[in-house]
Amino acid sequence: MNTDRFSLPAILCKPVEGTPLVRDEIKYLLGLEKKSEVELLQRVARLVRTKHFGQKVFLYGFVYFSTYCKNNCTFCHYRRDNREVARYRKNESEVVEAARNLRDSGVHLIDLTMGEDPEMFHPDFGLKRLVRLTGKIRSETGLPVMLSPGAAPEAAISEFAKAGAEWYACYQETHTESLFDKLRIGQSYKERYATKVEAKSNGMLIEEGILTGVGETLDDIADSILAMKEMKADQVRAMTFVPQKGAPLESYGAVTSNRELNVISVMRLVLPDTLIPASLDIDGLNGLQKRLLAGANVVTSIVPPGRGLAGVANSSLDIEESRRTVDSIKNVLQFIGMETATAEEYRHWVEDRMQGEGNPMQMGGASVNCRYWS
Ligand code: SF4
Repeated sequence: MNTDRFSLPAILCKPVEGTPLVRDEIKYLLGLEKKSEVELLQRVARLVRTKHFGQKVFLYGFVYFSTYCKNNCTFCHYRRDNREVARYRKNESEVVEAARNLRDSGVHLIDLTMGEDPEMFHPDFGLKRLVRLTGKIRSETGLPVMLSPGAAPEAAISEFAKAGAEWYACYQETHTESLFDKLRIGQSYKERYATKVEAKSNGMLIEEGILTGVGETLDDIADSILAMKEMKADQVRAMTFVPQKGAPLESYGAVTSNRELNVISVMRLVLPDTLIPASLDIDGLNGLQKRLLAGANVVTSIVPPGRGLAGVANSSLDIEESRRTVDSIKNVLQFIGMETATAEEYRHWVEDRMQGEGNPMQMGGASVNCRYWS
């Protein structure tokens, strides 16, 4: 792409002044590499975040309660055909205990995640168990719940909503169907996408997400960001691919997280009042600061040690060392002048968003003015 016609300061003014970025501008920002330009992009992303959320950060506890899966995604450690995985399926009391522990440590939400576990997807037994578990976790912890069960059947999604789940998370990983077919082999792009439409129509908030470093182009990412805007996702995440032993994409090798950081910043400009995670699952605690500085405002994949629970992209990184805990995170937040929100502030954000109120949280944010950089 010929980038001579773009003026970075002028483009960065557009979202600040409420003018949507067009596809070519999004692509241009995603492709920035020069240190000074990336720093300016991140600075403006932080200003936009501050306008909507102040310096407050939300914290999500992560309970990956079943690592069984019927699918064979080419990027995933837990794919069906990977015989090197020591799989587990936690029972209800183990999940409740882990969730209570996370609540006591100070998280604002419990994310209940599983692979597409054939047992849990059984229409008569498994999905009912998941519905019951959702209600139980809500009543035992008093916290909002995010369900990340994969592409659940339509009927189950309305049951999740009735059980009180506030969030439904299910990532396409890309919005380019030909790339989707290479990543999520044997799965239906449209069916997976439809689960989020169904969750929205049942009043739930939705999280959408993409993977970087899996052969995507900047065009693909720009399309994804615009797709996430169009679907009115309430939380949008980008994660860098981590090569998984025994998975077909292992040969792709590791990439830096630079592209993910640009995606975080650009998502902040395109979707200024959505939640954007800084996941501990990629680089552990060491990667938290740079993701927050890029414009993220939620810390995800907080995992309690000592319970035999895994992460997804990095199954064990920092977990038993107690570095994926609220106490460890607070030190990083303090260092960069941010702070954890209260449980009440998070609950209010969720309730307002579920009621469809635009821009629901103005947490003392400063106004943003293009004169700062143009
Ligand atoms: S990404 Fe999810 S659906 Fe795909 S193989 Fe892994 S656990 Fe299963």
